[in-house]
Amino acid sequence: MKQEQARATKDQPTFQIVEETLQASEESFRLLAEALPQIVWTALPNGELDYYNHYWYDFTGYTRKETFQHESWANVIHPDDREKTLDTWYKAVQSKERYEIEYRFWDKDEGRYHWFLARALPAYDYQGNVIKWFGTCTDIDKSKQAEEKLLYHASLARNILDAIVVTSLESEILTWNSAAEALYGWKEEEARGKFFDQLLQTQYPRDDRQEWLKEVLTKGYWRGELRQQRRDGAWLDIQTGVSPFRDIDGKIVGLVGIIRDITESKQIERKLQEREQQLQAAIDLAKLGVWKLYLKNNRIECSVRSKAHFGYSADTCMTLGRVIKRIIPEDRDWNLREALEQRKEYHGEYRVKWPDGSLHWIAISGQGQYSKRGKPFAVVGVTLDITERKLEEQRKDTFIGIASHELKTPLTTIKGFTQLLYRQMKRLGMTDQVETLAKMDGQVNALTRLVNELMDVSKIQSGLLEYSWEEIDIDQLVKNVVEMVQQMSSRHIIQISGETGRKIVGDRSHLEQVLTNLLTNAIKYSPQAQQVEVSLGCERDTIFIKVRDYGIGIPAEELERIFGRFYRADTARSRAIGGLGMGLYIAQEIISKHGGKITVKSKEGEGSTFCVELPFSPLSEQEANNDDRSSGGGGTMNDR
Ligand code: ADP
Repeated sequence: MKQEQARATKDQPTFQIVEETLQASEESFRLLAEALPQIVWTALPNGELDYYNHYWYDFTGYTRKETFQHESWANVIHPDDREKTLDTWYKAVQSKERYEIEYRFWDKDEGRYHWFLARALPAYDYQGNVIKWFGTCTDIDKSKQAEEKLLYHASLARNILDAIVVTSLESEILTWNSAAEALYGWKEEEARGKFFDQLLQTQYPRDDRQEWLKEVLTKGYWRGELRQQRRDGAWLDIQTGVSPFRDIDGKIVGLVGIIRDITESKQIERKLQEREQQLQAAIDLAKLGVWKLYLKNNRIECSVRSKAHFGYSADTCMTLGRVIKRIIPEDRDWNLREALEQRKEYHGEYRVKWPDGSLHWIAISGQGQYSKRGKPFAVVGVTLDITERKLEEQRKDTFIGIASHELKTPLTTIKGFTQLLYRQMKRLGMTDQVETLAKMDGQVNALTRLVNELMDVSKIQSGLLEYSWEEIDIDQLVKNVVEMVQQMSSRHIIQISGETGRKIVGDRSHLEQVLTNLLTNAIKYSPQAQQVEVSLGCERDTIFIKVRDYGIGIPAEELERIFGRFYRADTARSRAIGGLGMGLYIAQEIISKHGGKITVKSKEGEGSTFCVELPFSPLSEQEANNDDRSSGGGGTMNDR
């Protein structure tokens, strides 16, 4: 060894010095490299890696052998960065120029990629040839993340529609974004340095700002609503989230607030509240109960009053079953489903028995709520105790019954005396008196018809309208009535067409009464027209009797109601023509007792057609009487 050294010293004294110097500098480089908190590596001029410091081994977990035998580097780098990095490296080796690149290395401890900044410098000899590559890879993940965060926040602050305000703890405005400028009407440079509270007349929910500030600082955030004034004097409703703002050392130095203008929604909210209060007041005043029925489980959400209407306490959990349980069995015919199918309002009046045994009339009204596909999912509505009204109606009915009865007796007497006088005067040839008595008789007849109708209405109410069943030739009956009515009115021409060719079992006088009413109405409500048409027909097992006029007609919205008791269509022309609104009510009752129905088609100004449909095989007397008893149609509160 010594000999060799001596030879070398002798032959190549300069080389030895250079080599020693090189060795020494490489030694100190390695020492330095091992001490550095980053990956340090070296490569041969051709790009082949020949050294990594310990940071590499710690970071990757590879051994020396693994590092140099396999493509360890390629395993650690993010697949997306591999090609670009290799490309840069090959180009640098060829051009012998330094390079700098950012890429991601897999951190086995954290199980995620870290951003690294890689730099490589070539060392040249005197001829400019690369003798070594020195490289470093610095973990810049934290600063990269911070940079990304910063960029993100900056763009957020710029683009966010909410105003962002940064103030000192004393509320001095440090900065605010363009949304804040637009909201408050002050440019950032105008606002900066002013006090947030004073500039905007900020009204905190708490009078004491210090107290408020304490809450923000202790809790670490505050969310709430404020009132503030814009530059133009308009007041704003503000929703804000405030959090403390820290400097680099973590010391709280100010507040950051995200501010949202909720003036419009607040106004809507206030209006809604106002409306709700008004609605509530109206509901309270009208003594209405409010309910919502969920069809999927028959559960009912309802107000305390609605529960009380069915005799339940405020804490009862309501269901449809519970409601039905309280309704007396005879009244339990729900047509809710039908109303829902037809998307109609629902209305029903029911007798409800409370646990104390008392009976109450409850009106239930409701309307369906439908899904987008048109399926009903709930019903909302109101309930009302109508017991008082029903009692009142009963008293009225009783009064009408008694009054009509009381009127009937003297009227019959007057009628008898009028006819007696008429005959006597006629015999004595007292023409003037005879004429007067004939007029008087006509008026007495009109009065008698009215009283009879009143009595009928009263009897219908109490279920006491009597029927006497017999076989009737319906064509003949219609002919007789037409003739009779025609005699009374010379102004109109009543024409009959068609025939049924049928006999039915019915009550002759009541059917005559119905037809007379339809014909007199046709005449009464067509003062300008002369034509009235009666047509008869038969279809399968149904008989039709149609009465058509060309008179004033009935407005569409009144059509359903004209069959109601004492109901008269609300048109000036209709009102000008006398009547009490009983005829159609009685007619409908009579026809329905015959198992038929009565309908109307009409157009205002063009006339109306009433159609009576009677089943060809109506109920037998026995059946009808039974039916009569069972359906009742009314009755008093006492007999229920
Ligand atoms: P009244 O004729 O005594 O008022 P009705 O019960 O017979 O009572 O009729 C109820 C209402 O229906 C009438 O007030 C009228 O407004 C309307 N009405 C009935 N028939 C006709 C008709 N033929 N043309 C127009 N309106 C009619």
